[in-house]
Amino acid sequence: MSGTFFGQHTHPRARRAHKCATCDRTIDHGEVYSRQFCVWDGMAYAWKQCLHCEAMIPYIDYDESFNEDDYQCWEPRNIKELRIRVHLNKQWRNNAGELYPIPFQKAAA
Ligand SMILES: [Zn+2]
Repeated sequence: MSGTFFGQHTHPRARRAHKCATCDRTIDHGEVYSRQFCVWDGMAYAWKQCLHCEAMIPYIDYDESFNEDDYQCWEPRNIKELRIRVHLNKQWRNNAGELYPIPFQKAAA
């Protein structure tokens, strides 16, 4: 994949709602999210992702870049990851609409 450029990577607080590029959930106004400036095939855009999906990047299988398919293909290896898989399938929200904890984080001491 030539002509790909990854620019500044920031974690701004959303000033308006965005869509996560990989789980397609709404990133709420006021929520911190991952934003990276990219140029791909001559097109410049901002790659926006929720922090839940960003935390999964080390665990999904991909080559040079990844997209929502790599998340859909992710296979949990144990019960803990199976729970994360369920949370991902639910776009990181429980039935009350509250966000699940960000996956693969150490519990706060
Ligand atoms: Zn997401």
